[in-house]
Amino acid sequence: MIPHSATLAVNEKINARRAAGRPVLHLGFGEAGLPVLPAVADALTAAAAENGYGPVAGSQRAREAAAGYLTRRDLPTDPGQIVFAPGSKPLLYAVLTALPGDVVLPVPSWVSYAAQAQLAGKRVIGVPVPVQSGGVPDPDLLEPALREARASGADPRVLVVTLPDNPTGTCGSADLVHRVCELADRHGLTILSDEIYRDLTFDPARHVSPARFLPERTVVTGGPSKSMALGGWRIGFARIADAGLRQDVTGIAGAVWSSLAAPMQAAAAHVLDEPQEVRDHLGASRRLHAAVLRATHEIFTAAGARCRAPEAGFYLYPDLEPLGLAEKTGVELSGRLLDEHDIGVLAGEHFGDDPAALRFRVATSLLYGSTVDERWEALRSADP
Ligand code: PLP
Repeated sequence: MIPHSATLAVNEKINARRAAGRPVLHLGFGEAGLPVLPAVADALTAAAAENGYGPVAGSQRAREAAAGYLTRRDLPTDPGQIVFAPGSKPLLYAVLTALPGDVVLPVPSWVSYAAQAQLAGKRVIGVPVPVQSGGVPDPDLLEPALREARASGADPRVLVVTLPDNPTGTCGSADLVHRVCELADRHGLTILSDEIYRDLTFDPARHVSPARFLPERTVVTGGPSKSMALGGWRIGFARIADAGLRQDVTGIAGAVWSSLAAPMQAAAAHVLDEPQEVRDHLGASRRLHAAVLRATHEIFTAAGARCRAPEAGFYLYPDLEPLGLAEKTGVELSGRLLDEHDIGVLAGEHFGDDPAALRFRVATSLLYGSTVDERWEALRSADP
């Protein structure tokens, strides 16, 4: 059976309750809930007449913009290394499909990796990641996990990391990222570095990409879905330095989705060029998320939950076990929160994790039910 995405399933359940007239507070889905920047909407509409099929990997203009964006972030990139797609999700799947061998996943990690790996016919090797590691597997746990996997007949060849992390909202240290890269190099692993939350790192210096240490062996994926609240526009890109892998991924793209829609590529190029208004918008959105997340973190910890201080994105991942609730699993508790209190969240089990944890997509939840003008006001009030 094809597994159904837990996040999309929660979203559907919430929408059904809303359609039935319930005022559900939606903390389950990974989107910012902020308005589209007008200059970006203008770039999209100005390109509406572009109706031809373009190059599979993306237009030269869009690829140059993505290469410039990564180069400005200390990752020198050639436009020829970029592949665009309708979201980074299909690119993650294409990379997992194109690479040989089995897939090592941090536990907890984003719901879709395991599903994608299974669809691609891979075995999944889970490596527990202590919350304090910020989504980066501890090399001391990774090494024995690789040995054990090989002894049981698996062939681990890909390591997925999410930086900053979903669901914990944290960043791994440069030292940890470096050690994992050394280990990946030693074991012949390709690192698939999902950096979709990168521009929502509250202190941008805290984000370290594995590509900094292993630029040829790391595939970086990203896009404006989270940081610019453009998830519904379905824009994503990958930096694939290895020419053979890039050719395979482009082959899958050509066979399955042809290309990112041409007007979306124009909008993506505008965002990735980062003119002043985009930089201002990103900064305000980052500050708004940081303020709300930190305040909510204080509420959780004051109530007695265990929860690492947030460093990026819009999630908190508290362990509610110390609260001594009657419900012993996240699935039971999230079911009760939705059924009795109209609050939608995801359970730790959805991330392959400890039953007691819940993921709350917190930051812009406070904006739900607000008008677009009120959302702009919230952004403006996040100005320094
Ligand atoms: N990676 C992670 C960790 C995510 O949380 C999400 C969105 O939920 C994605 C990738 C998908 O992003 P995109 O909108 O670029 O497909």
